[in-house]
Amino acid sequence: MQYPAPISKLIDGFMKLPGIGPKTAGRLAFHVLNMKEDDVLDFAKALVNAKRDLTHCSSCFYITDKDPCLICDDSHRDRSMICVVEDSKDVMAMEKMQEYRGLYHVLHGAISPMDGIGPEDIRMPELIKRLQDDTVQEVIVATNPSIEGEATAMYLSRMIKPTGIRVTRLAHGLPVGGDLEYADEVTLSRAVEGRREL
Ligand SMILES: [Zn+2]
Repeated sequence: MQYPAPISKLIDGFMKLPGIGPKTAGRLAFHVLNMKEDDVLDFAKALVNAKRDLTHCSSCFYITDKDPCLICDDSHRDRSMICVVEDSKDVMAMEKMQEYRGLYHVLHGAISPMDGIGPEDIRMPELIKRLQDDTVQEVIVATNPSIEGEATAMYLSRMIKPTGIRVTRLAHGLPVGGDLEYADEVTLSRAVEGRREL
């Protein structure tokens, strides 16, 4: 069946989102048609503003609307620790736990030789540069427990250990192949507690 063009366009838009198939996209599109015009406008504005106003922190590369980000700018944070994650969503997962008080570094990816992604293709050089400052004493590698996440952890260990900075990896117990963002707070908190030397 052929929908009027504006609906087809809306359905196509929803289908670009992860986990949304044609059926769900259709349902969402028709739901939007039944929403109040003000609510639709607010929603559309939120989409555009999020994209326009958010950038990455020039120090840790976490998503932010001001530079440096709130975490890097917080004087109560422990600057001797950097937790290395693959994605901004992982920072949100760690922050939800409310136990970790150090800083972060978001790599925006992981090393994957199979896909031709090397250290230079992610925010690795920037991390190595941050470590040249004497304040950092421990790097907690919290990349995902996947092949790419492990390869990244190995690389970090090789690069950082000779500098004398402690390198630790989150303890097992996180679902293998699963993302950090899906770990519940208790599991994540235990994984940080039980982190091991790399
Ligand atoms: Zn930052």
